[in-house]
Amino acid sequence: MMTQFWTTTPLEKMTPVQWESLCDGCGKCCLNKIIDDETDELYYTNAACHLLDSDSCGCRRYIERFKYVPECTAITPDNISELTWLPNSCAYRRLHLGKGLPSWHPLLTGSKDAMHAAGISVQGKTVNEMKVKYLEDCIVLWPLLDVE
Ligand code: SF4
Ligand code: SF4
Repeated sequence: MMTQFWTTTPLEKMTPVQWESLCDGCGKCCLNKIIDDETDELYYTNAACHLLDSDSCGCRRYIERFKYVPECTAITPDNISELTWLPNSCAYRRLHLGKGLPSWHPLLTGSKDAMHAAGISVQGKTVNEMKVKYLEDCIVLWPLLDVE
């Protein structure tokens, strides 16, 4: 049986491989967001970064992504407390907040299938940001869904 390292190892003590494996690959952090200047309210849109593969929900240039998208954010143990815009379902955010991994997480199920089936990923729900004129027209609520 696989060792559930995330239940025993603090985020800051994880190896790079363990850290990377926590990402469920939902793709929600690759959606454009809008923050209301006056209220600080966060809105998700379904307009995805142009490097996101809308079917697999992965980045098509992950290793070299900063060359193409300098504003992409690397999530680390040092900045996780500041990344309050990450979706509630995000494994990094969940573990940082003292929660466990949800039952659909690929580390527990062995694939992304249960995550897609639970409606957690962006699969089939996005538009390419390059085709969007007004981000405000793309505001959606489903990225905020967290079924567990
Ligand atoms: S939201 Fe979190 S778990 Fe989902 S793809 Fe982004 S970093 Fe990975
Ligand atoms: S560059 Fe890749 S990881 Fe970064 S937001 Fe775009 S698709 Fe996501």
